[in-house]
Amino acid sequence: MNGSKVALVTGGSRGIGAAIVRRLAGDGMRVAFTYASNRDRAEQVVSEVAARGGRALCLQADAADSATVAGAIERSVEAWGRLDVVVVNAGVARAGAIDALAPEEIDRMIDVNVRGTVHTIRAALPHLRDGGRIVTIGSVNAERTPFAGAATYAMTKAAVAGLVRGLARDLGPRGITVNNVQPGPTANDSMNADSPAAQAMTRWLALPRIGAPEEIAALVAHLAGPEAAFITGASLTIDGGFTA
Ligand code: NDP
Repeated sequence: MNGSKVALVTGGSRGIGAAIVRRLAGDGMRVAFTYASNRDRAEQVVSEVAARGGRALCLQADAADSATVAGAIERSVEAWGRLDVVVVNAGVARAGAIDALAPEEIDRMIDVNVRGTVHTIRAALPHLRDGGRIVTIGSVNAERTPFAGAATYAMTKAAVAGLVRGLARDLGPRGITVNNVQPGPTANDSMNADSPAAQAMTRWLALPRIGAPEEIAALVAHLAGPEAAFITGASLTIDGGFTA
């Protein structure tokens, strides 16, 4: 079904992004993904995909650098010949009160999470096929922020949710759907599911565990697939009951 389709994923070398790359490639898509600096991890993901018979390529592109991102998208289209699905996953989180974070840390979150999302989608649009899919990775913190120190990160992810609603209207006539996946606490390199940090997080959830990146990837794959053609403009929360 997805055999001829091409996806672009930002921030695909680790964590949720890597799980999305593996899943979409496993579903038969050809996948190009960006990373910030960790080339070894990016090439490891490419090798893992290839070992399972899939096709992926990695491109270095800082999401905050719109010209470099546009260049990566051009290279992806040159390599794979088309673009059907865009997943804007690259993001950074800095915890701390607004007056405790350095101004540069706040600006970096805005640059990567907000400006990066806008400019990635803007650069991808001329290549994206009619009937295509855009999926952003927001955060449950845009809906609910029960602990201190997440205000500025929550602001950036709320901006993503607003962008998605508006874009769904703008791109609907082309049959392009635009949706936002809002994960709750999810395991990644800095938070193993069994770690004390992950265990501490479970006090905010209905389920007694944090999420797995593969669970977020499964929702993204659904939104990227043919059965989700009537879902657009939605922010879908996948959080183990964090917002329950
Ligand atoms: P990780 O920190 O585990 O991985 C981040 C990935 O994005 C890496 O591949 C990294 O590349 C890449 N990346 C980081 N900054 C940039 C950048 N400026 N330009 C391009 N690529 C970049 O993140 P997670 O998997 O935890 O998070 C992925 C997304 O999910 C983010 O948007 C995050 O805000 C969101 N999220 C995560 C939650 C969680 O609990 N994990 C909860 C809610 C939302 P490299 O390897 O080169 O550094």
